[in-house]
Amino acid sequence: MSKKIIVTGVSGQDGANMCEYLLAETPHQVFGMVRRSSNPNFDNTLAFKNHERFKFVYADLSDEISIERLIKEVQPDYLINFAANSFVGCSWDMPLQVFDVNTLGVIRCLEAIKNFSPKCRFYSAGSSEQFGDVDYSPQDLAHPFKPRSPYGASKCAAHHIVKVYRESYDMYAVHSILFNHEGTKRGEEFVTRKITKGVARIYDKIYSVDNWRGRHGDGAVFEPIELGSLDTKRDWSDSEDFVKGVWLMLNQDDPKDYLLASGETHSIREFVEQAFNVADLKGEWVGEGVDEKYIASGGKHEYVLVKVNPEFYRPAEVNLLHGDPSLARDELKWKPEISFDKLVEKMVLYDIEQRTKR
Ligand code: GDP
Repeated sequence: MSKKIIVTGVSGQDGANMCEYLLAETPHQVFGMVRRSSNPNFDNTLAFKNHERFKFVYADLSDEISIERLIKEVQPDYLINFAANSFVGCSWDMPLQVFDVNTLGVIRCLEAIKNFSPKCRFYSAGSSEQFGDVDYSPQDLAHPFKPRSPYGASKCAAHHIVKVYRESYDMYAVHSILFNHEGTKRGEEFVTRKITKGVARIYDKIYSVDNWRGRHGDGAVFEPIELGSLDTKRDWSDSEDFVKGVWLMLNQDDPKDYLLASGETHSIREFVEQAFNVADLKGEWVGEGVDEKYIASGGKHEYVLVKVNPEFYRPAEVNLLHGDPSLARDELKWKPEISFDKLVEKMVLYDIEQRTKR
């Protein structure tokens, strides 16, 4: 039977991937929740926004009246919450807004479901940033929460409140820990997309001049990619793999929290190397600390591909994230299909293709 699913955050990476997956793999009706904005960007929804089983609905996680109205009107069977202020880096600049959306927004959804559609199953997207200053690797669900940013703290609070509602009101409500997950819909403020877009820009410049690899005199002119910490490590997966895991979590006999991760960890430095490899550009790391650079030689010229800019250092850093997805693998039979190398390749090739289309 066709069910009704509200997905929040549909203009973002995960919400859009969730809608695409649900429309392709289930017979259900999908309601994509968006905030009213005078300057909306719905690029991530292009593949499905005209689908006959898809509809945009308007509400705002920071406004309980709009959430209540939506739940009353739609009477959803599922509410999948991917809306968030999800960029760790800016969470120090606007901690109250981050808590309003990421934590109070979850409470507003839970209250509206409890009062107006109590059979609705609720999903809340958690984050490996909840682990923060990690004690051991790989991290599993038993790892203590030690967040290092307002963003991480807001997701810890959401985690606890989902558990409280689940146990107090017998609701099907889950909050899973999602390690970093990326793809071609990722925002440019995240390091992976910043790198892959930067590689595509440099590739474009270098291969548009005929002197690369020293055949002629002048070199290509471009700005390097500027990054902060190169040594932090993340457990990166493909967002498209994660939305499948989220749907499995919502369709178990009993609600339970899970953790999704690739089970591998890689440094920012490795991501940079792999991304330039895909574009057939090889560099070498020279220098140290703020003077470190990734440099490629082309004939008589040296090209700075990447340099450090301390502006991108964070007030407090999460140095290492490495998840243990074995519970999801054993109980949900979930496993990621896209490897680290494939993910980087997919993102770089997509960004190169986008530039050639312009
Ligand atoms: P996060 O793990 O959710 O914070 O995802 P990000 O992609 O924003 O950051 C991943 C890691 O990359 C963090 O350790 C950042 O400090 C590091 N990093 C290094 N340079 C940059 C940069 O220029 N932008 C961003 N966003 N992160 C950077």
